[in-house]
Amino acid sequence: MIDLKRNSKKELVLATGIRSRSSSIYKSNQSEDFKISRGKFSNFLTCPRCFYLDRVVGLDPPGTPGWSLNDTTDHLLKKEFDDCRNSQTPHRLFLKNGLEHVVPYQHPDMDKWRDSLHHGLTARFEDTNIILTGGVDDIWQNTKNGKLILVDYKSQANSAPLEPKTYLSDVYKHGYKVQIDFYAYLLQKMGFDVEDTAFFLVCNADRDADGFYGKMNFQEVLIPYLWKSNWIREQIVQMIKLLNDKKAPKANSSCKNCAYTKQANLYEKNSNNEC
Ligand code: SF4
Repeated sequence: MIDLKRNSKKELVLATGIRSRSSSIYKSNQSEDFKISRGKFSNFLTCPRCFYLDRVVGLDPPGTPGWSLNDTTDHLLKKEFDDCRNSQTPHRLFLKNGLEHVVPYQHPDMDKWRDSLHHGLTARFEDTNIILTGGVDDIWQNTKNGKLILVDYKSQANSAPLEPKTYLSDVYKHGYKVQIDFYAYLLQKMGFDVEDTAFFLVCNADRDADGFYGKMNFQEVLIPYLWKSNWIREQIVQMIKLLNDKKAPKANSSCKNCAYTKQANLYEKNSNNEC
Protein backbone atom coordinates (compact mmCIF):
# COMPACT_ATOMS: atom_id res chain seq x y z
CA MET A 1 0.00 0.00 0.00
CA ILE A 2 1.57 3.30 -1.07
CA ASP A 3 0.48 6.13 1.23
CA LEU A 4 1.86 9.58 0.46
CA LYS A 5 1.84 12.19 3.24
CA ARG A 6 -0.05 15.38 2.44
CA ASN A 7 -0.88 18.45 4.52
CA SER A 8 -4.35 19.95 5.00
CA LYS A 9 -4.02 21.67 1.58
CA LYS A 10 -3.36 18.25 0.04
CA GLU A 11 0.24 19.24 -0.80
CA LEU A 12 2.90 16.53 -0.57
CA VAL A 13 5.05 16.90 2.55
CA LEU A 14 7.96 15.00 4.08
CA ALA A 15 6.93 11.69 5.65
CA THR A 16 9.02 11.20 8.80
CA GLY A 17 7.38 8.00 10.03
CA ILE A 18 7.06 9.63 13.48
CA ARG A 19 3.86 10.92 15.07
CA SER A 20 3.87 14.65 15.70
CA ARG A 21 1.16 14.76 18.41
CA SER A 22 2.80 13.82 21.72
CA SER A 23 -0.61 13.22 23.38
CA SER A 24 -1.05 10.12 21.21
CA ILE A 25 2.20 8.63 22.53
CA TYR A 26 2.15 6.82 25.89
CA LYS A 27 5.00 7.47 28.30
CA SER A 28 5.85 4.56 30.59
CA ASN A 29 3.92 4.82 33.90
CA GLN A 30 2.47 8.19 32.97
CA SER A 31 -0.23 9.48 35.33
CA GLU A 32 -2.24 11.48 32.76
CA ASP A 33 -5.27 9.79 31.24
CA PHE A 34 -4.58 7.99 27.98
CA LYS A 35 -7.26 6.94 25.50
CA ILE A 36 -7.25 3.57 23.80
CA SER A 37 -9.86 3.07 21.10
CA ARG A 38 -11.45 -0.19 20.06
CA GLY A 39 -9.34 -0.09 16.89
CA LYS A 40 -6.08 0.16 18.85
CA PHE A 41 -7.22 -2.66 21.14
CA SER A 42 -7.84 -4.80 18.03
CA ASN A 43 -4.35 -3.88 16.80
CA PHE A 44 -2.94 -5.07 20.13
CA LEU A 45 -4.69 -8.42 19.68
CA THR A 46 -3.45 -8.80 16.09
CA CYS A 47 0.13 -7.72 16.64
CA PRO A 48 1.29 -6.42 20.04
CA ARG A 49 4.51 -5.21 18.41
CA CYS A 50 2.71 -2.93 15.97
CA PHE A 51 0.52 -1.62 18.81
CA TYR A 52 3.68 -0.86 20.83
CA LEU A 53 5.50 0.82 17.93
CA ASP A 54 2.42 2.98 17.33
CA ARG A 55 1.35 3.92 20.90
CA VAL A 56 4.66 3.84 22.80
CA VAL A 57 7.44 4.44 20.25
CA GLY A 58 5.23 6.88 18.34
CA LEU A 59 5.70 5.55 14.81
CA ASP A 60 3.19 6.79 12.26
CA PRO A 61 2.05 3.77 10.23
CA PRO A 62 0.82 4.09 6.62
CA GLY A 63 -2.93 4.55 6.44
CA THR A 64 -5.56 3.03 4.18
CA PRO A 65 -7.90 5.02 1.94
CA GLY A 66 -11.46 5.65 3.17
CA TRP A 67 -14.25 3.26 2.26
CA SER A 68 -16.65 5.79 0.85
CA LEU A 69 -19.21 3.28 -0.52
CA ASN A 70 -19.37 1.44 2.82
CA ASP A 71 -19.52 4.78 4.63
CA THR A 72 -22.43 5.77 2.42
CA THR A 73 -24.53 2.72 3.34
CA ASP A 74 -23.76 3.46 7.02
CA HIS A 75 -24.73 7.09 6.54
CA LEU A 76 -28.03 6.26 4.82
CA LEU A 77 -28.90 3.54 7.33
CA LYS A 78 -28.26 6.04 10.12
CA LYS A 79 -30.81 8.42 8.55
CA GLU A 80 -33.43 5.65 8.35
CA PHE A 81 -32.87 4.48 11.89
CA ASP A 82 -32.86 8.04 13.20
CA ASP A 83 -36.35 8.58 11.73
CA CYS A 84 -37.56 5.56 13.72
CA ARG A 85 -35.59 6.73 16.75
CA ASN A 86 -37.37 10.07 16.69
CA SER A 87 -40.80 8.46 16.40
CA GLN A 88 -39.82 5.50 18.66
CA THR A 89 -41.30 3.06 16.13
CA PRO A 90 -39.86 -0.27 14.96
CA HIS A 91 -37.80 -0.09 11.76
CA ARG A 92 -39.11 -1.98 8.70
CA LEU A 93 -36.40 -4.61 9.16
CA PHE A 94 -37.54 -5.24 12.75
CA LEU A 95 -41.09 -5.98 11.51
CA LYS A 96 -39.67 -8.38 8.90
CA ASN A 97 -37.55 -10.20 11.49
CA GLY A 98 -40.03 -10.68 14.35
CA LEU A 99 -38.55 -7.78 16.34
CA GLU A 100 -41.73 -5.69 16.66
CA HIS A 101 -40.79 -4.99 20.30
CA VAL A 102 -37.49 -3.31 19.30
CA VAL A 103 -36.91 0.40 18.59
CA PRO A 104 -33.71 2.39 17.93
CA TYR A 105 -32.51 3.59 21.34
CA GLN A 106 -33.01 7.24 22.16
CA HIS A 107 -30.35 8.85 24.34
CA PRO A 108 -28.95 12.43 24.43
CA ASP A 109 -25.42 11.06 23.87
CA MET A 110 -26.25 8.86 20.88
CA ASP A 111 -24.42 11.12 18.41
CA LYS A 112 -21.35 11.16 20.66
CA TRP A 113 -21.43 7.39 21.00
CA ARG A 114 -21.46 7.08 17.21
CA ASP A 115 -18.54 9.49 16.79
CA SER A 116 -15.57 7.12 16.85
CA LEU A 117 -13.02 9.87 16.14
CA HIS A 118 -13.80 12.23 19.00
CA HIS A 119 -15.99 10.42 21.55
CA GLY A 120 -17.58 6.95 21.28
CA LEU A 121 -18.73 4.85 24.21
CA THR A 122 -16.26 5.70 26.98
CA ALA A 123 -15.22 3.95 30.19
CA ARG A 124 -12.22 4.24 32.48
CA PHE A 125 -10.53 0.89 33.00
CA GLU A 126 -10.84 0.18 36.73
CA ASP A 127 -8.65 2.58 38.76
CA THR A 128 -6.14 3.18 35.96
CA ASN A 129 -5.48 6.18 33.72
CA ILE A 130 -6.61 4.17 30.68
CA ILE A 131 -9.81 5.41 29.05
CA LEU A 132 -11.37 2.90 26.66
CA THR A 133 -13.45 4.18 23.78
CA GLY A 134 -15.41 2.72 20.88
CA GLY A 135 -17.73 4.35 18.32
CA VAL A 136 -20.84 2.22 17.71
CA ASP A 137 -22.92 2.16 14.53
CA ASP A 138 -26.19 1.95 16.44
CA ILE A 139 -27.89 0.80 19.61
CA TRP A 140 -31.44 -0.51 19.69
CA GLN A 141 -33.68 -1.21 22.67
CA ASN A 142 -35.90 -4.11 23.63
CA THR A 143 -39.04 -2.30 24.83
CA LYS A 144 -40.17 -5.37 26.80
CA ASN A 145 -37.23 -5.42 29.22
CA GLY A 146 -35.43 -2.11 28.52
CA LYS A 147 -32.15 -3.85 27.62
CA LEU A 148 -29.90 -2.36 24.94
CA ILE A 149 -29.02 -4.20 21.73
CA LEU A 150 -25.69 -3.58 20.01
CA VAL A 151 -25.68 -3.22 16.25
CA ASP A 152 -22.96 -2.99 13.66
CA TYR A 153 -23.64 -2.21 9.99
CA LYS A 154 -21.58 -4.15 7.46
CA SER A 155 -21.49 -3.67 3.70
CA GLN A 156 -20.17 -6.30 1.35
CA ALA A 157 -20.54 -7.83 -2.12
CA ASN A 158 -20.46 -11.57 -1.77
CA SER A 159 -22.22 -14.25 -3.80
CA ALA A 160 -22.24 -16.79 -0.94
CA PRO A 161 -25.60 -17.18 0.87
CA LEU A 162 -25.88 -15.00 3.97
CA GLU A 163 -26.50 -17.34 6.88
CA PRO A 164 -25.57 -16.61 10.51
CA LYS A 165 -23.48 -19.75 11.02
CA THR A 166 -21.37 -19.46 7.87
CA TYR A 167 -21.13 -15.67 8.09
CA LEU A 168 -19.66 -15.66 11.61
CA SER A 169 -17.44 -18.72 11.20
CA ASP A 170 -15.43 -17.02 8.44
CA VAL A 171 -11.95 -16.28 9.80
CA TYR A 172 -12.14 -12.74 8.40
CA LYS A 173 -15.17 -12.05 10.61
CA HIS A 174 -13.32 -12.72 13.85
CA GLY A 175 -12.54 -9.01 14.16
CA TYR A 176 -16.26 -8.20 13.85
CA LYS A 177 -16.98 -10.34 16.89
CA VAL A 178 -14.16 -8.67 18.84
CA GLN A 179 -15.68 -5.32 17.94
CA ILE A 180 -19.10 -6.19 19.40
CA ASP A 181 -17.59 -7.92 22.46
CA PHE A 182 -15.61 -4.75 23.19
CA TYR A 183 -18.65 -2.47 22.78
CA ALA A 184 -20.69 -4.75 25.05
CA TYR A 185 -17.91 -4.54 27.64
CA LEU A 186 -17.94 -0.73 27.43
CA LEU A 187 -21.74 -0.44 27.64
CA GLN A 188 -21.76 -2.68 30.70
CA LYS A 189 -19.02 -0.61 32.34
CA MET A 190 -21.12 2.48 31.61
CA GLY A 191 -23.89 0.89 33.68
CA PHE A 192 -26.25 -0.29 30.94
CA ASP A 193 -28.04 -3.62 30.78
CA VAL A 194 -27.14 -5.23 27.45
CA GLU A 195 -29.13 -7.92 25.59
CA ASP A 196 -27.13 -11.13 25.07
CA THR A 197 -27.80 -11.00 21.33
CA ALA A 198 -26.28 -8.26 19.20
CA PHE A 199 -26.87 -7.88 15.45
CA PHE A 200 -24.81 -7.33 12.34
CA LEU A 201 -26.96 -5.60 9.77
CA VAL A 202 -25.31 -6.90 6.60
CA CYS A 203 -25.98 -5.09 3.32
CA ASN A 204 -24.91 -7.41 0.54
CA ALA A 205 -24.63 -5.92 -2.97
CA ASP A 206 -26.20 -7.98 -5.76
CA ARG A 207 -23.32 -9.00 -8.06
CA ASP A 208 -25.65 -11.05 -10.28
CA ALA A 209 -27.67 -8.06 -11.52
CA ASP A 210 -27.83 -7.56 -15.33
CA GLY A 211 -25.82 -4.36 -15.14
CA PHE A 212 -25.16 -1.28 -13.08
CA TYR A 213 -27.62 1.22 -14.72
CA GLY A 214 -26.75 3.82 -12.08
CA LYS A 215 -27.80 1.79 -9.06
CA MET A 216 -26.84 -1.19 -7.00
CA ASN A 217 -29.30 -3.42 -5.18
CA PHE A 218 -28.60 -4.76 -1.73
CA GLN A 219 -29.96 -7.65 0.23
CA GLU A 220 -30.37 -6.67 3.92
CA VAL A 221 -29.86 -9.45 6.45
CA LEU A 222 -29.79 -9.34 10.24
CA ILE A 223 -27.16 -11.71 11.59
CA PRO A 224 -27.59 -12.36 15.34
CA TYR A 225 -24.46 -12.69 17.45
CA LEU A 226 -24.22 -13.89 21.06
CA TRP A 227 -21.46 -11.65 22.38
CA LYS A 228 -19.03 -12.52 25.17
CA SER A 229 -17.15 -9.86 27.08
CA ASN A 230 -15.60 -12.00 29.83
CA TRP A 231 -12.28 -12.32 27.97
CA ILE A 232 -11.77 -8.58 27.47
CA ARG A 233 -10.57 -7.62 30.96
CA GLU A 234 -7.53 -9.92 30.93
CA GLN A 235 -6.48 -8.67 27.50
CA ILE A 236 -6.73 -5.06 28.65
CA VAL A 237 -4.54 -5.90 31.64
CA GLN A 238 -1.97 -7.39 29.24
CA MET A 239 -2.24 -4.38 26.95
CA ILE A 240 -1.56 -1.96 29.83
CA LYS A 241 1.38 -4.10 30.93
CA LEU A 242 2.81 -3.79 27.44
CA LEU A 243 2.31 0.00 27.41
CA ASN A 244 4.62 0.16 30.43
CA ASP A 245 7.20 -2.26 29.04
CA LYS A 246 10.64 -1.06 27.99
CA LYS A 247 10.87 -3.33 24.97
CA ALA A 248 8.66 -4.09 21.96
CA PRO A 249 7.38 -7.69 21.75
CA LYS A 250 7.92 -10.00 18.77
CA ALA A 251 6.22 -9.35 15.44
CA ASN A 252 3.38 -11.41 14.00
CA SER A 253 5.24 -13.78 11.67
CA SER A 254 2.30 -13.88 9.22
CA CYS A 255 2.35 -10.14 8.63
CA LYS A 256 3.14 -9.27 5.01
CA ASN A 257 3.94 -5.64 5.89
CA CYS A 258 6.74 -6.66 8.23
CA ALA A 259 8.07 -9.28 5.82
CA TYR A 260 8.07 -6.68 3.03
CA THR A 261 9.92 -4.11 5.18
CA LYS A 262 12.51 -6.69 6.22
CA GLN A 263 13.13 -7.73 2.62
CA ALA A 264 13.33 -4.12 1.45
CA ASN A 265 15.85 -3.32 4.23
CA LEU A 266 17.89 -6.39 3.29
CA TYR A 267 17.91 -5.43 -0.37
CA GLU A 268 19.00 -1.89 0.43
CA LYS A 269 21.76 -3.12 2.72
CA ASN A 270 23.09 -5.72 0.29
CA SER A 271 22.86 -3.57 -2.80
CA ASN A 272 23.96 -0.36 -1.09
CA ASN A 273 20.96 1.19 -2.78
CA GLU A 274 18.99 3.12 -0.16
CA CYS A 275 15.71 4.86 -0.92
S1 SF4 B 1 4.30 -7.81 12.14
FE1 SF4 B 1 3.03 -6.39 10.92
S2 SF4 B 1 1.61 -5.64 12.35
FE2 SF4 B 1 3.36 -6.44 13.51
S3 SF4 B 1 4.92 -4.86 13.76
FE3 SF4 B 1 5.35 -5.84 11.88
S4 SF4 B 1 4.25 -4.58 10.37
FE4 SF4 B 1 3.33 -4.18 12.29
